[in-house]
Amino acid sequence: MIIIETFQVYGETYPYEWIRFDEETRLWYMGRVTCTGSVAYGGTCQCISHDPEEEWIVGREEVKQILQDLLDKGQAFDLSEEEIESLNSPSLEDKVMEKLALRGFSPEHWKEELEDWLSSSYKIGLNPLPALRKVLGGDILVLFKHQDDYSFFSLEEGEEALVVTLDSDDCTVDVEFIEE
Ligand SMILES: [Zn+2]
Repeated sequence: MIIIETFQVYGETYPYEWIRFDEETRLWYMGRVTCTGSVAYGGTCQCISHDPEEEWIVGREEVKQILQDLLDKGQAFDLSEEEIESLNSPSLEDKVMEKLALRGFSPEHWKEELEDWLSSSYKIGLNPLPALRKVLGGDILVLFKHQDDYSFFSLEEGEEALVVTLDSDDCTVDVEFIEE
């Protein structure tokens, strides 16, 4: 956890704002204490009708900006190997998942949700790929293929792509990642 701000209760120092990398979901979260009077922070509030803290997903670019701001303020931070790898060389899957999670897709079931979204669009005769490419941004290559199309995708060496495979019979969709 990287502490951004702290606050004090009875001489004890607690994190007030933070960012953290979640190894399960492979996403970054920003958090903030919303009840500084909480028993969790040395106060007396039981936090019955509210949460003592809140967290939300932040993108890697935003995390880097926050770290830059800390650097500018001369504040030290410590990054684990996993955190460095996540910021420095995220996999294509991590990048896609982050973009979708920021749009409200579930971090655990984003792939099924994406396939359902694409499949529903095809079922009513709409092409969802322009919208998907817009959501993912220009640096993520999205390729389309039909179920029985075995033609070769000519990717450059080291190039990666998200492949959307459509089964024309029942409009089911399969999403996978390929790398040359
Ligand atoms: Zn409270």
